[in-house]
Amino acid sequence: MGFDIGIDLGTTNSLCAVFRDGQPELIPNVHGSVLTPSVVGVLDDGSMLVGLPAKELRVTHPAQCAWCFKRWMGTNRKIRLGGRDYSAPELSSLILKSLKDDAEAFLKEAVTEAVITVPAYFNDHQRKATKLAAELAGLKVRRIINEPTAAALTYGFHEREAVKKLMVIDLGGGTFDVTLMEIFEGGLEIISTAGESHLGGEDFTNRLVATVLKQLGKEYETAELKTPLLVARLHEECERAKRQLLDAPQSRIRIPNDDGEINEKAVSVLVTREAFAKASKALVDRLKGPIGKVLRDGQVDPTEIDDLILVGGATRMPVVVDFVREFLSAEPLAKFNPDEVVALGAAVQAALISDNAAVSDMVMTDVCPFTLGVELAKEFGNYLEPGYFAPIIHRNTTIPVSKEQIFSTVATNQLEVTINVYQGEARKVKDNLKLGELSVKGIPPGPAGQPFLVRFTYDINGLLEVEACIPETGRKFQTVLTNHAADLTPKEIAAALEKMRKLKFYPRDDVKNKQLVLFCDRVVGEISPHLRESLEGAIDAFERAMSSGDREMFEVARSGLLIVLSSLGIEYESPEAEADQDDNELS
Ligand code: AMP
Repeated sequence: MGFDIGIDLGTTNSLCAVFRDGQPELIPNVHGSVLTPSVVGVLDDGSMLVGLPAKELRVTHPAQCAWCFKRWMGTNRKIRLGGRDYSAPELSSLILKSLKDDAEAFLKEAVTEAVITVPAYFNDHQRKATKLAAELAGLKVRRIINEPTAAALTYGFHEREAVKKLMVIDLGGGTFDVTLMEIFEGGLEIISTAGESHLGGEDFTNRLVATVLKQLGKEYETAELKTPLLVARLHEECERAKRQLLDAPQSRIRIPNDDGEINEKAVSVLVTREAFAKASKALVDRLKGPIGKVLRDGQVDPTEIDDLILVGGATRMPVVVDFVREFLSAEPLAKFNPDEVVALGAAVQAALISDNAAVSDMVMTDVCPFTLGVELAKEFGNYLEPGYFAPIIHRNTTIPVSKEQIFSTVATNQLEVTINVYQGEARKVKDNLKLGELSVKGIPPGPAGQPFLVRFTYDINGLLEVEACIPETGRKFQTVLTNHAADLTPKEIAAALEKMRKLKFYPRDDVKNKQLVLFCDRVVGEISPHLRESLEGAIDAFERAMSSGDREMFEVARSGLLIVLSSLGIEYESPEAEADQDDNELS
């Protein structure tokens, strides 16, 4: 039997964990870090880079990179990269494949299955797109679980005896979820969940970028079109400044030139915590809605919450912590690392599925995060008005759930009905999300009012199945929910698999060195011209040594390059060094 693997496929970073020796454990990537940036890049020779080196490439060559594509899961949007179009599941599959390779190298065994987490608020399209991404990466999805539920599983794993009400606030790179749950001696019951699928840390960085550009008299969109290198580099600077504001009251943002370079002449602007809080106020305000909704749905008063868990890197921001503290009058629990808690919980879920003895006393129930239903025509006097939403499964119903409802034809001798399936909370379908349609044919002729049954089944993966039945004939119809980005035919899946298989990847064994070269390439443009030559010489020597295959020459060239960097006062923080540092902090 294979290992119990859990994957947190994040907007900005992805992580992989394994459950072994009675507990969940994070798996380091080829760079020695447990965080793999969800970035894909393509080099001039067409070879693909995934993770850290791609993130480095993004700073200098944004046009050769794709990131934040989790935001496009479940849509038909294509992302252009290296002269080819990719869908979000295709790009996500490259991240998953990279995590799979890292896990196999770490565990020394093939990894073919995994539990994958998604934001609780991910809809049916987005969940199916995630399944497709896994399939393209050669992974079978054992289960899709909600990120806050995974976080709660980590909590529940460590607090078996607890009897508590918890709230998990999950603000990642691109999505926001809030979930209320109850823990009862190993039992974990989700009470209610709500969120926004387009709100996360990236928006805070973008807001800072926009604010700085405005100070320079530029508009974000125009600047991105006209000077993409400047915007990409400024984004990097703003991201760094945003993180610095965690410990410092203010941070300096250096302004790159139009080529995206920051040299000694670069001017800088100062951003204070207060200014950042002001710039992000509108974003912070958007957290209120979903938090209020879960409390109302769960009929829970904030004073009843025993523990508050913050998940996702963006909850580190003081503006978010301060807001949550004030809004809920509660102190967030600091004992879990917000980046890691979801992947660890996914591994616990994998262990639960395989009946691992170490979790035999744990049980978990989840809910459907949104209302699911069909379009209905309402009768007003003697006319019918279509466009109304008839819920079949209400939000926050415990899953798995199967519910049916009887509907009827609206016209004489109506032999056919198209059932339009929607997700959402609005009264009219135009304000909800259409998931697809199901065609029901062969209704016996007769006056209006011929009945037909519609059954919705929402499974533990959060995927919906729709079935209709004509009672008089017993004829059944099953979902083929069309309009789905991820509902590909077997032929289309085979073609996508072939496309992914043909991609050429930068050699895994060399990827750490490529990371160093990309870092140096960026630095070259930033140091003063008279120092440039010595650095360029060291990079050239290192590149030659990389391709020579001579181990000794390579080691000498690598240390030579690191010495030159250090003599220029430039710190190259290799991810391994960072990982070691994290270990030290923990111990
Ligand atoms: P995730 O998708 O959970 O990996 O979330 C990553 C998001 O967290 C990104 O938008 C980061 O900018 C943000 N983030 C990570 N660390 C910090 C930090 N120390 N301060 C502010 N934001 C952070």
